[in-house]
Amino acid sequence: MTEMLQENYLKNINKIYCDFDGTITKKDAVNTFFEIYADPKWTYYENLWTEGKISSRENAIKQVALLPELSQEKLNEYIDSIEIDEYFVDFVNYIQSKDIELIIISDGFDLFIEKTLQKHNLRNIKYFANHLKYENGKFSIEFPHFNPNCKVGAGMCKCNQVKEKTFCYIGDGVSDLCVAKRASVLFATKNLETFCNKNDINCIPFFSFCNIIDYMKKVNWEK
Ligand SMILES: [Mg+2]
Ligand SMILES: [Zn+2]
Repeated sequence: MTEMLQENYLKNINKIYCDFDGTITKKDAVNTFFEIYADPKWTYYENLWTEGKISSRENAIKQVALLPELSQEKLNEYIDSIEIDEYFVDFVNYIQSKDIELIIISDGFDLFIEKTLQKHNLRNIKYFANHLKYENGKFSIEFPHFNPNCKVGAGMCKCNQVKEKTFCYIGDGVSDLCVAKRASVLFATKNLETFCNKNDINCIPFFSFCNIIDYMKKVNWEK
């Protein structure tokens, strides 16, 4: 898809789907959490997943089981340390001024997303993610958006969540790929950008949400 075509799609778009970890947040909030608190064996499962030997759902179950009991105080402290892109809030304001809805689809944890959005006064953004349950200091995981037919075995099936033919997607990882490939307009960073370049998938590279705002400001909006 040429850049011109992507711009043409963009000016009529109603929905933007966006990944959370590593896209909106500076660091992957799930992996950083495991790095700090989980039994180091979590990397063993991470590698099995990277090698395609287990699904991301199975990976999440195994990794969450390696979390110790944690006080509410420690958990809050961690969630409070999650940093987001400096221009994400501006980006949300910009697209809302164009009547475009933003929906976060994440194979990460709802708890982190919920609290992070609250902290930045972005409560009105819809999101779909795995449910990290926290009860009496203990963690477990549930998959309210699991799709048994998901080709990549995701806990939260991104491809199934997006029903539109024309949509914009923003992401950073290879797990975004199934949905990213179908996007009419794709903004990609980090591993997703590298993958798209290697596989001739057209994408608009970005480093921060300010790049996406700049790109969008050049579009001749029809609304
Ligand atoms: Mg990500
Ligand atoms: Zn899927």
